[in-house]
Amino acid sequence: MPKSPKKPKIRRNQKSLSTRSIHAGEPRKKYADSLMTPIIQTSTYTFKGSKGIEDYTKKGKEHFEYGRYGNPTAKIAEARLANLDGAEDCVVFSSGMSAITTTILSLVQSGDHIVITDDSYKKTLEFCRSYLKQFAIGCTIVPFGDYRKLERAIKKNTRFIFSESPTNPYLNIFDLVKIKKIADRHNVLTLIDSTFATPFNQRPIEFGMDLVLHSCTKYLAGHNDILAGAVLGRKDLIEKIRDLHKSMGGTIDPHCCYLLLRGLKTFPLRVAKQNATALEVAEFLESHPRVRKVYYPFLKSHRHYRVATTQMEGGGGVVSFETVGNLTTAKHFLDRLRLCYIGPSLGGVETLITHPALVSYYDYSRKQRYALGITDTLFRLAVGCEDPEDIIADLDNALKK
Ligand SMILES: *Cc1c(COP(=O)(O)O)cnc(C)c1O
Repeated sequence: MPKSPKKPKIRRNQKSLSTRSIHAGEPRKKYADSLMTPIIQTSTYTFKGSKGIEDYTKKGKEHFEYGRYGNPTAKIAEARLANLDGAEDCVVFSSGMSAITTTILSLVQSGDHIVITDDSYKKTLEFCRSYLKQFAIGCTIVPFGDYRKLERAIKKNTRFIFSESPTNPYLNIFDLVKIKKIADRHNVLTLIDSTFATPFNQRPIEFGMDLVLHSCTKYLAGHNDILAGAVLGRKDLIEKIRDLHKSMGGTIDPHCCYLLLRGLKTFPLRVAKQNATALEVAEFLESHPRVRKVYYPFLKSHRHYRVATTQMEGGGGVVSFETVGNLTTAKHFLDRLRLCYIGPSLGGVETLITHPALVSYYDYSRKQRYALGITDTLFRLAVGCEDPEDIIADLDNALKK
């Protein structure tokens, strides 16, 4: 793997990451000597007499008051997530989008400006482009990978740069070292959506990013059964976000939190397997005569291979590819799949495939789609935890003419 001496050294600490993903954040002794973290399914909490109230309100003794302000199961999830990414603190939310919108709103006021890269998650972009305007917050969308344009977009009132890496569906990789330098020159914050990478493959805090966002719905929970989100980073920033979260109310349910904690225990196992499977599938697709182009950051042919292999542990579980043919042959390919389910999302144990033109961009004209690079024969495969040979056999069969 190519390595440049200028880049910070990544701590190859996967062994300890596995241990921490099982144990971090939870007390060893739990309620009723339970091994598992109890689900504290309550909307409110009680006080022991007036002294209990005053200990909390006047002396600042730690106490839960009401579900929207905190929950013990959620608190453990926050401590574990912060630990895995090496962050000072964390807040969990009812979805990734709740984490993203609450975080953005907590950092800006009217008259401010933000910079965001153009292949960020569709709903994040929509929020920045359409809704921030209502509060007189400016937003410049810059082409991904154009660091000069990005730097030029920064104004006096710019509060932060928002980016994502890897991105959807082309798995573009944002150079964290470059972005940190630009941000420092202009004294702006750096926010990164690290959902596709997870702390197994990438730990942006080690590169100096201020805030890291995750849709925990994907790899971290990992079973396609809950929605959850998180923001992690500097304590002072997280405190601000937590305050607004109490008003915005995107509170995660305690049972959901438990499922997140359970998913976290196995996420390094799953992501390690998904990294290996995705690379194998990507290599298979690249050699297939009916495949025109494959996008996977750990393939030498990917335009960001160098930066990907320098700042990431693995390429992740998503492989995008374009087949030869047209929309009709693309539909035939989908119809012949027997193992891979057709569906959006990623990061669970089941392999999912989506056709962005038919699903996420169905409401765009062909011209608009092509301008974004969403062609008629583009697919995004999110590998699950099935064995690679079964996934490959399914794809191979469906690709047959
Ligand atoms: C899914 C996703 C989100 C949104 O998360 P939800 O949990 O669905 O709200 C944000 N960013 C990225 C990169 C995602 O993949």
